[in-house]
Amino acid sequence: MHSVPPAFACTDCGAKTMHIPQWTHDDAFIECAGCGKPFATIRQLRERLEAALKEKNLPLVDAPSEWSK
Ligand SMILES: [Zn+2]
Repeated sequence: MHSVPPAFACTDCGAKTMHIPQWTHDDAFIECAGCGKPFATIRQLRERLEAALKEKNLPLVDAPSEWSK
């Protein structure tokens, strides 16, 4: 059985851990902490997370603490 995948996960290694660079601007790339593959920009990921929140109306427990800023 598969659980619902999180809003973000590495398509290569499946890691849900991201390496977030210094929060310089929304177009900075977030990389996979497992294999270094770029996920998306901060802007893209934030939009995805916000869409997921609206759909499910649930808190995103996997979101890094940085998102709550
Ligand atoms: Zn990876």
